[in-house]
Order: sequence, then C-alpha cells, then structure tokens
Amino acid sequence: MSRRTPKAVVKHMAEFAVAKTAPLLWRSRDRSLVVLMYHRVLPPGDSRLELEQPGMYVHPSTLRLHLVALKQHFQPVQLDHWIQAALDNTSLPERAFAITFDDGWADNFEHAYPVLAAENVPATIFVVSDMVGTGHLFWPERLGTLLRQGLARHAAQLYSFGEFAWLRTLDAQMPSSVQELNPERLDRIINNAKRDDDATLSARVDDMASRLGDSQCPREIELLDWEQIREMTRSGLISIGSHTRRHTRLSDDLTAERLHDEIAESKHVIESNAGCEVRLFCYPNGDATATARALVAKHYLAACSTMPGWHSVRADRYMIRRVAVHQDIAGNKTSFLARLSGWI
Ligand SMILES: [Zn+2]
Repeated sequence: MSRRTPKAVVKHMAEFAVAKTAPLLWRSRDRSLVVLMYHRVLPPGDSRLELEQPGMYVHPSTLRLHLVALKQHFQPVQLDHWIQAALDNTSLPERAFAITFDDGWADNFEHAYPVLAAENVPATIFVVSDMVGTGHLFWPERLGTLLRQGLARHAAQLYSFGEFAWLRTLDAQMPSSVQELNPERLDRIINNAKRDDDATLSARVDDMASRLGDSQCPREIELLDWEQIREMTRSGLISIGSHTRRHTRLSDDLTAERLHDEIAESKHVIESNAGCEVRLFCYPNGDATATARALVAKHYLAACSTMPGWHSVRADRYMIRRVAVHQDIAGNKTSFLARLSGWI
C-alpha cells in the first residue's frame, strides 16, 4: 500500500489551491501573452529518452493536456502575429498563448506536429540552420552518448584516457558504470560543463569520439530535415525561427563577424531552404549580450529569451520571457497551471 508523505500532501494541496485560484488572478492581467517553451516531445519508453536531460522533454499526451488546458483560458496565437498586432496597435485577445520549440528536433515533426494539428494550435520551431538534416547532434547529447559508450567498455578506467580526464573536474564523483549514469547525474555534468565555451566543448567531445573509434555519434538522425520543415510550414500552422547557425551561445568573446554569421546568416540559410520568411530569433541557452540583442533587432521582428514569466505589450520584444515546461514539472493539469502562474 502506498501512502503519501506529509510533504507530498502539502505540495499536492498547494498545487490544487494554485490551480483553482490562478485563472482568477490571470483575469486581472492586461493583454498578456504566455509563451511556452518546449524542446523535445517523446513517448514513454522511447530509446531517445534514455540519456536526455529531465528538463528537455514532454510526452505527446502531456503536450495535448497542456493545449487543452490552455485553450480553456487563453486564445492560441502565432507568436509573430501577436507581436506584429501589438506593434500595429490592432486588437489583441485579452489573454493569449503561443507555443515554441527550441533546437529543431525531429520528434517535433513526429510527435508534436500531429498533436498541434489535432488541437489546431500554431507553433514556432527554432531551428539551428547548419544542423538541419545533417545527422549532427548538439554537444550535450553527444557527451551523454560517448560517456555511456565509454563506461560500457572501460568502466571507471575511462577517465584515465586523456580525452576523458577533463570530465573529472565537472563532478567530484563521476559515474563508474552505465548504471550510475542516470539522467539527473548527466544533467549536473552538462550544466557544469557550460563553464567553457561551445568551441572548446565541441572540440573535447570530438576528441572523446576519436578515442572511442567506431562508436561515433550520432546514434541516429535526431534533428529535423528540410523536407519535414517544408511540410510543416506549408500547413500554415508552423512557423520557423532561427536559433543561430551552430547553437552558439552568444557571448562577448565572439567576433563581430561570427556574431553576424550566427544571427543574420542563419536567417538567410533557413529562408532559402525552407521557403518561408523567418521573423523570430531565439538565443541559445538564453545567453544574450547588448551587442547581440542590437544585431538581432536589426534583422528580426522579435526574439525569445529563457527568462521566466509572461510577455506583455509593454515588455522588450527582443527579450521575450517564456514559461519552460517539461514532463517532470508539468506532467498533470494541476502542476501545469501552477507552473503557468510562476508558482513552481
Ligand atoms: Zn537551444
């Protein structure tokens, strides 16, 4: 027999109370827009979940649950349409919501697009132009895969290889077997690795892959290709935004040339391959400098950050706040509504 702990009961009651009162509180807000931030959509048991960070995915049934709950209180809008209407000072719904997906995962086509179509909810997918259709993966997923493969072959001996030794600086107790490499642990390792820049991390992961020889990444193509993108944009339901050319975190260390390449050139690459206009940008990892923001403002209508909260007509449209939702924090309606309110 399972019994809830007192802490769990209190948490449940608090979430229930928030879910009941939150919609009442929302009514006092004026012309607000809630922008939801998703990454991957994968069903339970999918092998791609094995080494994914907990904050990176929802199940398709959870996405549907979110859309149904949102439609009860908010009007679905395409993000760029709402921004344009706010600029034109034309009428806006009292409360609206816009859906965004970061990174351009193939599972967005496979598992999110059918749900969005069934619920008739538009969305924006932010793709990394130079990774579309290539079979390449981002360094966090590559790191996870190589660590898993390396541990399976060499166990704790793995860290005696020069290419893997740097991992010891990320966590005092690195996993010594595949069994010890759970998603939470990997999450911590990846977050600690972000102290270094993307070029350094990609080079380190390349070295790790060379050391393991035939176990090169990727496991399979996990990112969208241009055909899938064109099919979705043709439907009129999906807009494509830019998430840079290489998922580069925009810091002051980048040259002006590189910044221009990541921000302006990515727009051209996507527009020429997808055959649609790209009006929105999204900062990788939410990292934005004043220089980057100014360049984004020159080329785009608006841009999404990872700062939490709701967007409003008076807020900076080049730093749109979003509500990040994922399976372990918004897996049921009550916790989702509480999350929307910024309470959890
Ligand atoms: Zn991203």
